[in-house]
This record gives sequence, structure tokens and C-alpha cells, in this order.
Amino acid sequence: MSYVVTDACTKDFVCVAECATAAIAPAATDAAAGTVSQVYINPDECIDCGNCATICPQGAIFSLDDLPAEKAHFAEKNKAYFN
Ligand code: SF4
Repeated sequence: MSYVVTDACTKDFVCVAECATAAIAPAATDAAAGTVSQVYINPDECIDCGNCATICPQGAIFSLDDLPAEKAHFAEKNKAYFN
């Protein structure tokens, strides 16, 4: 399983620093930070600790199990960012 970032993300990058496994990208200092519309979680790196979802001020991050149906496509979108 993995946590998933959705389009409620406002790119404050708070979650990036909180991630235990550096699974969230891009970081604020990465060149891609200015071009993406949100940050993404690498499902192969995520260990489901939930730190990011807890700290996100927008409530933009969900566990895969709790992802609202209308946001389901963000699971693939997060994964695709790292392919
Ligand atoms: S659940 Fe934990 S490991 Fe997974 S992206 Fe969030 S902070 Fe990183």
C-alpha cells in the first residue's frame, strides 16, 4: 500500500521534510518544483507511516484505502511521476 497526494496539494512542501523514506518528490529545491502542480509519493518507497497525511495542512494526502472515489486516479498519477 502507499499514501497518495491529491490535487488539494498547494505545494507547501511540508510533507517532503517529514517523510521517513524520502518518498515524496519533488523537493522545494528541485528544478521540477516550479513545474509540477503538486507533489507525489513514490509507492515503492512509502512505508505507510502516515506522517505526511498528519502534517498536511490541506488534507491532500490519503492512504490508498481511504482515497475518495473521485480521487482514485491520483494513485496512478503519483506512481507515474516516478516511472
Ligand atoms: S506515509 Fe510516511 S513513508 Fe509514506 S510518503 Fe508519507 S511520510 Fe513518506
